[in-house]
Amino acid sequence: LRNSGAIPSTERGMTKPSITLIGGGLVGALLGTLLARRGYRVDLFEKRTDPRRAGFAGGRSINLALAERGLHALRQADLADEVLEHAVMMRGRMVHPREGASGLQRYGVDDSEVIWSVARGGLNVLLLDAAEAAGVQLHFGQSLASADFDARRIRVIDDHGIHREVEAGVLIGADGAGSALRAAMDAHTPLGLRVEALGHGYKELEIPPAQGDGRARFALEPNALHIWPRGGYMCIALPNTEGSFTVTLFLPAKGAHPSFASLPDAAHAAAFFREDFPDLLPLIPNFAEDYDSHPVGTLSTLYLDRWHLDGRALLIGDAAHAIVPFHGQGMNCGFEDTVALADLLAESGRDTADAFAEFQRIRQPDADAIAQMALENYVEMRDSVADPHYLAKRELGAA
Ligand code: FAD
Repeated sequence: LRNSGAIPSTERGMTKPSITLIGGGLVGALLGTLLARRGYRVDLFEKRTDPRRAGFAGGRSINLALAERGLHALRQADLADEVLEHAVMMRGRMVHPREGASGLQRYGVDDSEVIWSVARGGLNVLLLDAAEAAGVQLHFGQSLASADFDARRIRVIDDHGIHREVEAGVLIGADGAGSALRAAMDAHTPLGLRVEALGHGYKELEIPPAQGDGRARFALEPNALHIWPRGGYMCIALPNTEGSFTVTLFLPAKGAHPSFASLPDAAHAAAFFREDFPDLLPLIPNFAEDYDSHPVGTLSTLYLDRWHLDGRALLIGDAAHAIVPFHGQGMNCGFEDTVALADLLAESGRDTADAFAEFQRIRQPDADAIAQMALENYVEMRDSVADPHYLAKRELGAA
């Protein structure tokens, strides 16, 4: 492992600090690309082994809704077209009520207003390839353990448990909701951290492609985000390019039935699905295996008073503002962050402390707004979309 951060790079006579980026997920890889293309020297430390060699943990298809905000950021890195080649268009919500026919609620008047389903693993690989091509030095299997902001050094631990000290440049944490850099910054200067648990969790299941005429085909309408709203809980399904759908069941974590606590195993869950999701259950042939082997994820919103430690360290993406997933905007918001930050850092005459303060000033109100909208959209998705009054208002263009 080379030491990083010692050598400032220059462009048009301006000295650029070198960047030590923690986390090579979606946001870290895109930020690295944008900064390296602007002439910054970037060293990226990622906890996992290189997914391009090892494959994604579990090998499951997990997908995300990519919207215009995220696409705009990908365009700045010239990656939007390539990403869309591996995406499935979603025109609207296909709502599957408990009784009655399913119906499509379009997002816009035509296909100029759509969102896209993309595979998380494939997108991350594409972004890491782009970062490497732009000149980012990638260090896989290197997890941030601690940071000494005064000495500008970090300690990383590899897959064999071996610790090393590395000289750091300006530190940027894109290491997700459980950010280790955030913990180190908070220990140095309290950041005003607040985590609000939703009290609901999620579990992913899979609808494989259906077989017909000897060919694989989608078992449901492919160009839609499917929702089975049930009042206090719901299932959703997003399409994958190869014909499958990733289903996500959202339920209260505990308390009254149904909850993940009241459905501890596939036998209980299958009985519940037979009652509540009778049209969905037959589409999930490996229900028992999926239910018993896939973990229950937790959902929280994370707020911070401070996103940076003067000009020495900054948090971005989920590390700064993790939100619940019901607006499908966490990644999109993190992608928007990368463009704002790269632009601010590149503005001549700005030092990093100034750029980081401005970044928080610009981005925090947007992050707070989408955090609130994401919480509200859970109620809309699991409940209002099936309400005849909501549908009538929507017909009139009021919802
Ligand atoms: P992450 O994707 O969490 O990446 C963090 C990276 O840092 C990882 O690679 C991790 O290995 C690495 N790391 C962690 N700790 C360390 C360490 N100590 N040292 C080094 N590296 C470290 N968003 C959308 O826009 N649309 C959606 O449809 C959508 N659906 C979602 C559905 C669910 C169920 C969930 C939970 C989230 C969803 N999101 C969605 C949100 C989206 O997943 C996140 O906003 C996005 O992944 C944030 O990217 P990130 O790079 O900031 O963090």
